[in-house]
Amino acid sequence: MPYGYTGKILRIDLNSKKVTIDTNDEVWYRTYWGGAAMAAWYMLKEMEAGIDPLGPDNMLLFMNSPIVGAPLPGLSRMVVCAKSPLTGGFGESQAGGFWAPELKKAGWDGLIITGKADSPMYLMIKDDQIEFKDAGHLWGLETAEAQTKIREENGDDRIRVAQIGPSGEKMVRFSSIVNDLNHVAGRTGLGAVMGSKNLRAIAVRGTQDIQIKDPEVVKEKAKWFAQNFMDNPQGRDLHLIGTSVFVAPQNELGILPTKNFCDGSFEGADSISGETMTETILKKREGCYACPVRCKRVVAIEEGPYKVDPTYGGPEYETLGALGCYLQISDLAAVAKGAEMCNKYGLDTISTGGVLAFAMECYEKGILTKEDTDGIEMTWGNGAALVEMIEKINKREGFGDILAEGSMRAAKKIGKGAEKYAIHVKGQEVPAHEPRGKGMLGITYSVSELGAEHTRVEHDTDFDFTAPEIWLEQAKSLGLLRRLPTETIDEDKVRMYYYLQHHFSMLDVLGCCLFTFAPVRTFTMADLVDMTSAITGWETSLWELMKAGERRWNMARAFNIREGFTKDDDWLPERLFEPLQTGALKGKGIIKSELREAIDLYYQMCNWTEDAVPTKAKLVELDLKWISDKMGEYVINGKKLRESGNIPHL
Ligand code: SF4
Repeated sequence: MPYGYTGKILRIDLNSKKVTIDTNDEVWYRTYWGGAAMAAWYMLKEMEAGIDPLGPDNMLLFMNSPIVGAPLPGLSRMVVCAKSPLTGGFGESQAGGFWAPELKKAGWDGLIITGKADSPMYLMIKDDQIEFKDAGHLWGLETAEAQTKIREENGDDRIRVAQIGPSGEKMVRFSSIVNDLNHVAGRTGLGAVMGSKNLRAIAVRGTQDIQIKDPEVVKEKAKWFAQNFMDNPQGRDLHLIGTSVFVAPQNELGILPTKNFCDGSFEGADSISGETMTETILKKREGCYACPVRCKRVVAIEEGPYKVDPTYGGPEYETLGALGCYLQISDLAAVAKGAEMCNKYGLDTISTGGVLAFAMECYEKGILTKEDTDGIEMTWGNGAALVEMIEKINKREGFGDILAEGSMRAAKKIGKGAEKYAIHVKGQEVPAHEPRGKGMLGITYSVSELGAEHTRVEHDTDFDFTAPEIWLEQAKSLGLLRRLPTETIDEDKVRMYYYLQHHFSMLDVLGCCLFTFAPVRTFTMADLVDMTSAITGWETSLWELMKAGERRWNMARAFNIREGFTKDDDWLPERLFEPLQTGALKGKGIIKSELREAIDLYYQMCNWTEDAVPTKAKLVELDLKWISDKMGEYVINGKKLRESGNIPHL
């Protein structure tokens, strides 16, 4: 086994309380590397198509890579996968923090959880000791209370806890998995999967050293990063202001999604900007394992109607966008309160903002009235409504029970034309980046296997005519040699998207934080290759690592095809084709024919059929022939792919 890995994956069946260990050979590890690629292998091999994501047949997988846990900035991502209860397709979410390195130090490359416990429980993993512990006394507690109890009753305050909150227990479809209270795997509703298994938390304590082939190289890279990250424009901004630094420029460019994606700018943006947060309620900066950037915020409010507990950190850009701009709420205290509630209840802030914006627009249009919303006035800008409705979603109480299903299902239930106001792709609410002003976001929201997701590609603004020279310089090693305008969705943009998707997928497979790596951030492509070689002892290359990224998204695509997704699902909500009503891009909507051409061209670049199915040639090229052998049996629109006639290669 190469360095970096432990060679062991822990498998826990909650039905039988049986613990086993999976071992795989070096070829397997070097093919799938880590994260969602390893998870997808298990999901495709072991999970039946069509299972209920909230039933016991779903699998919940936490997968490390060989480099996670090495003492270097950005190597701390917790990668969680399962079939998503929000989209019904491949579910994946990531968070930084300390939990994933701790799992590695406990001796595990990953964790596979199957079945369902017959009563609430949590897992205590201390190195190779695995205990199933009763969680009856934790059920219903906020995340901080539960974490404190777990640490106290196990007598160790260095235990790292990944857990769901009350929302996950109630299987709110956009529940998150929270580690260390402020590092949140929020997307695709995987907290609900954990709740469906009666699993409140996974507590980990590891005491073993991670084996690294060449520790001197690692030490040198860490030292160099600490000395240089403040020279990178974004490294500096992330440290000083945090991700909330993006609020002001996005507003100025007219790409700050506002009022449920009607507007591209928000009058109240200054009141909730990163700069305002820094000057008013910021208490300190925090970060992840071994990372000096410390881009996480800790805020506190002690007076007024919205007291905010610093235990839960502070709002990031996406949260300010979703709980602020989507709802036109300019009261920073109310937004910070909403962020605190999402972390203590275990809710994804993006989807929470998305469902509330949906409800507010339905309320404005008269589709919902005060009687429907339990007496809460769901009016734009209403901070009190934000707080009250989060409380109801968390408890699945009254109208909150409808919103807890996510905007797609809520709209179907409400009817009366409400579907028009549910801004989602494949069932997942759209993040706070406006695709009418960022062409690659329009493509990625459409084609991502996870539904609308903003972390599949660097954003267009990073390569436009105002972007710092260093970012363009660093992108050259990916073959991206020219600046492109932000809003376009043309052939050049598709190529840029295709290349950058490899790159981001590679970072995800390796469990790397996007905020520490080129082209936009401090570590270069060469650094990534050098550190991966130094940690594992494998002489790797950018080619090999980017292929691993490509393998991962083809596997996720195959999973979705098996679940019945078709090219029709690779499309945006109608709202995003409508003209923006305010801001620098007022009047701009995505042109359907341009998006259609871009997506079709993307399929061709991927070597997928016009029906968005990976060809046998592509799967064989990615060493995934075992998927192509099965794919002919997948049933879409009532027909096996092998019999559909227009996919002869199968
Ligand atoms: S840049 Fe921020 S999110 Fe990324 S590892 Fe460092 S502290 Fe964590």
